[in-house]
Amino acid sequence: RTPSAYDYPLLIKNLFRNPVVDNPDQEIIYRGVVRHTYRDVRQRVRRLANVLTGLGVKAGDTVAVMDWDSHRYLELFFAVPMIGAVLHTINVRLSPEQILYTIDHAEDDLLLVNGEFLPILEQIRGRIGTVRGYVLLTDEEMMPESHIPFVGEYEALLAEAATDYEFPDFDENSRATTFYTTGTTGLPKGVYFSHRQLVLHTLGVMASLGTASAHGRLHQGDVYMPITPMFHVHAWGMPYLATMLGIKQVYPGRYSPDLLLELIEKERVTFTHCVPTILHMLLRHPHAKRVDLAGLKMIIGGAAMSRALCCEALERGIDVFTGYGMSETCPILTISRLTPEMLAREPAQQAEIRCLTGLSLPFVDLRVVDPESGAEQPRDGRSAGEIVVRAPWLTQGYLKDHRTSEKLWEGGFLHTGDVAVRDERGYVRITDRTKDVIKVAGEWVSSLELEDILAHHPAVAEVAVIGQLDEKWGERPLALVVLKPEEAGRVVEKDLAHFVREYADKGMVSKQVVLLKVRLVDAIDKTSVGKISKVTLREKYLA
Ligand code: ADP
Repeated sequence: RTPSAYDYPLLIKNLFRNPVVDNPDQEIIYRGVVRHTYRDVRQRVRRLANVLTGLGVKAGDTVAVMDWDSHRYLELFFAVPMIGAVLHTINVRLSPEQILYTIDHAEDDLLLVNGEFLPILEQIRGRIGTVRGYVLLTDEEMMPESHIPFVGEYEALLAEAATDYEFPDFDENSRATTFYTTGTTGLPKGVYFSHRQLVLHTLGVMASLGTASAHGRLHQGDVYMPITPMFHVHAWGMPYLATMLGIKQVYPGRYSPDLLLELIEKERVTFTHCVPTILHMLLRHPHAKRVDLAGLKMIIGGAAMSRALCCEALERGIDVFTGYGMSETCPILTISRLTPEMLAREPAQQAEIRCLTGLSLPFVDLRVVDPESGAEQPRDGRSAGEIVVRAPWLTQGYLKDHRTSEKLWEGGFLHTGDVAVRDERGYVRITDRTKDVIKVAGEWVSSLELEDILAHHPAVAEVAVIGQLDEKWGERPLALVVLKPEEAGRVVEKDLAHFVREYADKGMVSKQVVLLKVRLVDAIDKTSVGKISKVTLREKYLA
């Protein structure tokens, strides 16, 4: 069937067309220093489209970016896909060799790079195969000294460009973005998303955040700031949503706790999202007590939030709740929304729900299935299985990797590799990743549950639990614990094991946890996006 005028394509330009709150003077701010209005940004996106096409970028080409979270990144989020090209958001925390690999694998045509990353680029440029031109992104007045033959600097190129650009219509299934998984095991794998998928993800997230429940809502008066990087799963797609809504946005550049807290205070940020380790860092920062965090809405995801952390945030008046997803899923699949009745409960009881993985977003067909039979597990809060999913915004596969793509989509569902239970209300709770599951005497012990208990101990700053091979039991859980500096020497490994045993004695966790071993360590290794890296921990402590 040939497309007709009725086939209105779901294109990213349509998120940009009429902000829900159409205030052209509304601001988009970078590090508290650069301030643009939506009117400016619209014009800058049209100028950027002229710059890109002027540099020879055509539909289907790939434009790569190396930057921290910035207003320029936001402009690229729109301009690149809107001219029909593909945006490759490079994970600047990967090693130079891995960055080189992703640039070549994605076949990038143009690369825009923040001056801060020139040392990395200089190191690999001689070996980059496909890139035809480089553009510099900088906050400095002067061009830095570099061997890289830049075609120009972003602001200078924009200033010279024409302000009119007619963004074309095309197939909504055209690829809009691509990026690479964090590559903690082996080479990074590329995932990709179409215009249609990003538009539907934006609408799905909005619907979930905009429910009747009185918390976590993103609305007209909000000020949005990301604290999960724009290079990783489009900062969870939230910049697209904030722009569609037309609300004030703040981009913090490289994350430093001082600046983040300052921006939250000065720009009155009300809505953000981060991984648990970042929330932990913000709450423990010496300046945190001085900043009023009450009313801040925060989606915590990327890893499970412990109840201890959740309670600490609630005490500061932060409306924290969980979001869940992965690189392969655009990312958001569930959000732990609370009903008005749940919101009336005591904070400790609310924390129970806020830390659950959550309820599926509209359109998301999420199932917890028995790994052997593939049948859906009963919704009894106990029967564990793998999360498999179908939704309108999942990657079709891994870029140029047929074999792993088939495995990802085995049986027509995307396999998340996450183990979970679900209760009768539909709330999902992740208990482990299939790779991290600890099997003690044939029974699954949830590493996340053990971490959650240990995080409640007043001396514990950070904890990660992994499985250690054991002749008798198959595996035993090993807890790696970092103590709070002031508690060092006062609490020993035995005390912590005893603390967990008390939970087992009260019947609150499986009896198997008495086999827990505890080891005090100085630090816990993290991945490039700040999550606990169990792969590294296993290599380090179990070898
Ligand atoms: P990586 O695989 O490198 O960690 P992703 O960002 O794609 O990169 O991570 C996705 C994984 O993170 C999920 O499969 C899941 O195991 C974990 N995860 C994400 N959100 C949550 C959450 N709210 N609770 C528990 N685990 C989560």
